[in-house]
Order: sequence, then structure tokens, then C-alpha cells
Amino acid sequence: MKRLTILGATGSVGTQALDVIRKTREELSLVGISAHSNWESTIQIIEEFNPKYVAMTEKNAFEKIMNYCKENNKKIEVLWDIEGLNIISSLPEIDIVLTSVVGMIGLQPTLNAIKAGKDIALANKETLVVGGQIIINEVKKNNVKILPVDSEHSAIFQCLEGNSKEEVDKIILTASGGPFRGKKIDDLENVTLEQALKHPRWNMGKKISIDSATLMNKGLEVIEAHYLFGIDYKDIQVVIHPQSIIHSMVQYEDGSVISQMGTTDMRLPIQYALNYPKRRKAVGEKLDFYNLEKLTFEKPDLNTFKPLKLAYTAGEKGGIMPTILNAANEAAVDLFLNKKIKFLEIGNILEEAMNKFYSCEALSIESIIEMDKRVKNYVFDSFKL
Ligand code: NDP
Ligand code: MG
Repeated sequence: MKRLTILGATGSVGTQALDVIRKTREELSLVGISAHSNWESTIQIIEEFNPKYVAMTEKNAFEKIMNYCKENNKKIEVLWDIEGLNIISSLPEIDIVLTSVVGMIGLQPTLNAIKAGKDIALANKETLVVGGQIIINEVKKNNVKILPVDSEHSAIFQCLEGNSKEEVDKIILTASGGPFRGKKIDDLENVTLEQALKHPRWNMGKKISIDSATLMNKGLEVIEAHYLFGIDYKDIQVVIHPQSIIHSMVQYEDGSVISQMGTTDMRLPIQYALNYPKRRKAVGEKLDFYNLEKLTFEKPDLNTFKPLKLAYTAGEKGGIMPTILNAANEAAVDLFLNKKIKFLEIGNILEEAMNKFYSCEALSIESIIEMDKRVKNYVFDSFKL
């Protein structure tokens, strides 16, 4: 039995993780959860799973949950804000933390969990993008595991099992191409928020859906792969694979390519990460090759989908640059979701921020948090929000 905390239990990954727990209760037990503002879903989770700890990061939602627990005589510790996230991610009674909050807010609780000796099932890619080197150092120092939940990284992790990393030639990260695959810049001039949110393969939270439409999601994943697997950027190749059946691949020096395949169901990588090293019975559908028509592959268009190119540049530059890229992206996506900017402006904002803010300062948690604030303020001020 593994005992766990879910950071971001009300989100897309969080609710799919709850479904995995629901279907394998003899293997997984939920001790702590967090949510931001969605107190209604939090109450449902409390009723169904009875966690001992609940952390809310939005004031009104925190008060609602406090009152609910008082009125219903729930023996639950209700916690507040980032301190709450830090507490529930380092509880003595848990083994593993699933980080499925969205954005770099996950950085401190993830580090806290690692320092407390907890394994991490990592969905929250922004955390690794901004603090990759610091996190990986702490992982080694504290002898814990990072088990990737992002489907591509879960695939690579599985393709590396039993093989020597020294013999890897390259990592091949697959991408569906998002809702605008095949489009050119002129076609994207006036695309709407609704069109951008319509991902052809996956049903995900809003921020990652927009990241998938710009290909920034793949850019963040390139940086995530660099830190998780210690692979040079020149050896990470992105390939568009619209069917999303092959979740990623590893090519070895002898030319052999090992891939991991499965349905487009996040419960599979979630379940694998939470039960690692054991494989458990599938909670969803299995792949049926008689029903697959074809698997196709394309080269990504880096001129149209500029954020992917910028992510390689930011990753190779290293230091504080991925933080600048990520902060500009979090702010730009927020503006796009609020219909304040057009789709193509997202890439322009990233480029401008990278040119404006880069400095060679040493990377620390403080410098990451400070730079994140500066860049976000700059982007929001530019659009008077
Ligand atoms: P969602 O937007 O669906 O969920 C985000 C979760 O984080 C919710 O529980 C939300 O709470 C909480 N949250 C939002 N804002 C804050 C905040 N400021 N402070 C603390 N908590 C907050 O996101 P996803 O589940 O889609 O994605 C989560 C992470 O996983 C992202 O980093 C994403 O890139 C990654 N990922 C997602 C995949 C997917 O299929 N969805 C696949 C691979 C990776 P509330 O509901 O109360 O707002
Ligand atoms: Mg992914």
C-alpha cells in the first residue's frame, strides 16, 4: 500500500489520479490533497476519499472548506496557501507526492517533498523547467525517485529501463501537433480561444491545452526531458505523430529504437508512476492494433510554432533563461485565455521577454521566484491587467 498526497487534486491530472485510486483502493491510499479555488469539487473529494489533510490556496475556498469541515464534524486539518502545500507534501505518513498543480507554484512544495525523502510522481512540468538543476541535485542528495507522469516522459522512462544510458543515441519526443497542425502563420492570425482549446487527442486543463496549440508544451517537455534524463538538447528530437499512439521513443547507438505505446489515457502513466516498480491491471482501455489504421510522422514547423524553437534556445542557454521563458508563457497564456491578446502574440511575448530579461546571475530558488515575478509583472503591465 502506498500513501500519497495529490497537489492539484481537482485538475485534469488530479481527477484522473483519483480515478486510479478509486479503482485500486487496496494499493493506494489518499492522505492529503490540495486545490486552488474549486471548493465544490474539493468537498466531493472529501466525501469520497476522506483525506486527513486539505490545503487550499485561494482565500474564499479555504474559508468554505474550513466551515464545511466544522459544520460536518470532519476530522480534517484544513491548511492555507503555500505553507499548506509545503506541509501536505512532506507529511511523515506519506510515501509519494503527485505534483499536478499547474504552473511554477509547484516548485517549493516539490522541493520540500524531496527534502523530506518523498518520491515524486511529476506531472507539473513547469517546476522542472524553472528549477531543473536544483531539483535534480536534491533528488540525488536525498536518494528519492522522480517518476514522470507526463506521457512522453513516462514513455522514455520505460524505454530506458534495463538499458545503459551511455548507449543512448537520442530521445525522440512525439507530439500530436495540436489543433493547428499543418497551419501556417497566415492561417493562425485570427484563430479563436475556442479553436485553440480544442485538442484533437487529449482532454486536459486549459493552460496545457493552449501550450499544446502553440507547441510550447513540447518545448517545456524538451527541457523537462533534458533534466529528467540528463540528455543534451542536440540529442532530443521532436517528431509530430498525430495519432498519439507512440508516446515517445529512445534510439540507441546500434540503431535500435524502443518505443512505448498505449491509448491516449493519462491514467496509464499516472498508475505506472504511483505503483512503480510494479505494473498493475489497466484501469482504462487497452490498445487494439486491429483498430489502428496507421501511424504517421512529420517534422515540426519551427517557423510557425515559434515557442518550440524558443524553448530549445532557452534550454541551451540554461541558468535563469528557462524561468524567463516559462514566466512569460504563463502570463501570455493567461492573457490569451482572458481574450486580451491574439494567439500569435504568445510567441512574440516569449521572444521579447527572453531578450529583455536574460542575465547570468546564479540560479537559486530566490532568483527563480524573483525573476518569475519580474517577468510576469512586465507582461501583465504591458497589457494593463
Ligand atoms: P488543471 O488546470 O486541470 O488543474 C490544475 C490544478 O492546480 C487544479 O487542482 C487547480 O485547482 C490547481 N491550481 C490552479 N492554480 C493554482 C495555484 N495558483 N496554486 C495552487 N494550485 C493551483 O491542470 P492539468 O491537470 O491539465 O495540468 C496540471 C499539470 O500537469 C500542468 O503542469 C500540466 O502541464 C501537467 N500535465 C497535464 C497533462 C494533462 O493531461 N492534463 C498531461 C501532462 C502533464 P482548482 O481546480 O481549484 O483551480
Ligand atoms: Mg505530455
